[in-house]
Amino acid sequence: VRARVMQVEHSPDVTYEDIGGLDAQLQEVRETVEMPLERPDMFREVGIDPPSGVLLYGPPGTGKTMLAKAVANQTDATFIKMAGSELVHKFIGEGAKLVRDLFEVARENEPAVLFIDEIDAIASKRTDSKTSGDAEVQRTMMQLLSEMDGFDERGEIRIIAATNRFDMLDSAILRPGRFDRLIEVPKPDVEGRELIFKIHTRNMNVSDDVDFAELAELSEDASGADIKAVCTEAGMFAIRDDRTEIYMEDLIGAWEKVQAESDEDSDVSR
Ligand code: ATP
Repeated sequence: VRARVMQVEHSPDVTYEDIGGLDAQLQEVRETVEMPLERPDMFREVGIDPPSGVLLYGPPGTGKTMLAKAVANQTDATFIKMAGSELVHKFIGEGAKLVRDLFEVARENEPAVLFIDEIDAIASKRTDSKTSGDAEVQRTMMQLLSEMDGFDERGEIRIIAATNRFDMLDSAILRPGRFDRLIEVPKPDVEGRELIFKIHTRNMNVSDDVDFAELAELSEDASGADIKAVCTEAGMFAIRDDRTEIYMEDLIGAWEKVQAESDEDSDVSR
């Protein structure tokens, strides 16, 4: 079961340079996650505990997972990821056991960055403990909170959680000593989009006619993940056309395609 729901990567290959347009967020993650891992002595000498848990919230595909991976890379830590949705819909007691396993794996692999994606799946305030499925979800969350309350904050495990549904979160997990550092990770602004286009075309054979500033203007409302999809799709356009060089028109066409697809998606999901 462990192998299926937990993703363990030693020093993942994402670096800070791979992240576009999240300077303030990166700065905060470095202070709250990187510093305590790299300089636990500083915190000890100053006599304060670093924040226990950091919560990243914002729309899908904006770089939350990347931030967590990059800080694990920077600190040579093990990156351990589990999605909240994997912890639910399980047999009675299994969610809580998985949470225990998760912390055990983290302790065995210190220093570690523990990343819990979709935390709302186990920490949603809508949960109604009268139904048995919800009671199981509650137990899973209680286990998470008790693991967090129980561990030494100066230890070499840092916890980062992420959600797209901040509004749904149970305030119990936001209390001091838990996920008490909230970092919003929004969609990129126009400058961020330009940087992200440049990052994702770094290894592509792009023609001189490609105007990144114009692409950034065009792609309003795109997330980082959308921009990555646009770059890949533009490469596909070139291949279909039997070319190895990517033109501006490929990127524009790809943006139109990705945008049309994401409009379809949002029609069904919202
Ligand atoms: P979700 O909420 O759906 O889990 P997320 O916020 O964790 O999404 P990531 O998994 O970090 O998003 O991003 C998905 C992909 O999109 C990344 O692997 C990367 O290729 C690209 N991407 C997203 N944001 C950025 C960014 N700010 N800079 C560069 N690439 C980005």
